[in-house]
Amino acid sequence: MKCDDARAAFLAGQVGRAESEHLETCAECRAEMPSLLETRRIMESATFWEEPPADLEDRIVGLVAGPGPKKEPAEKPPRWQLAVVGAAAVVALLLGVFLVQRTPSPDWEVALPGTAEAPLAVGVVSGWNEPGGTRMTLDIEGLPPAPNGFFYEFWLSAGDLHISAGTFTEAQGVELWVGVTRAEFPRLWITLEPIDEDESPSGVNVMDTA
Ligand SMILES: [Zn+2]
Repeated sequence: MKCDDARAAFLAGQVGRAESEHLETCAECRAEMPSLLETRRIMESATFWEEPPADLEDRIVGLVAGPGPKKEPAEKPPRWQLAVVGAAAVVALLLGVFLVQRTPSPDWEVALPGTAEAPLAVGVVSGWNEPGGTRMTLDIEGLPPAPNGFFYEFWLSAGDLHISAGTFTEAQGVELWVGVTRAEFPRLWITLEPIDEDESPSGVNVMDTA
């Protein structure tokens, strides 16, 4: 067990037996314990932040990587830089964990299969019921980018009543918002639309819960 692994595990709140033995027996880590505790407290309150404090990353890098290059001869490859690279990866991981924790789990998720128009497409729609409507994210694989002059459009429907939740050309990282609920408009589907003045669904249906 190395110091940086043990400290990163402590900051992440994932201390197993090996980590706790290290933290108890390593004098250097014990000396850092007040700073580690303080930083963990800050990180645990991070679920309330819009954005983490700007100095948090430096602070974690400093804690995990330990002291700087003070004893290294200048001509040797500085080992501490490797430690900082490793620590930066840990920081990215930890901040990722907090961002995930900050996003409450969806109120509903529904599978969105591809139709005969897009037989390789599979996806999941996650939805959050908000006071002003419904927020959705798409997690879709196998849907090719829309050709030039076209976009995809996402619909919620109840019978013949279709509400557009937005358009996109590639199904990567798409977030949608619509002013109705899935309880009222249960069918979720995606069409391929030519860019024209016709605002109704084209009929080229590529993914559909129905
Ligand atoms: Zn240590």
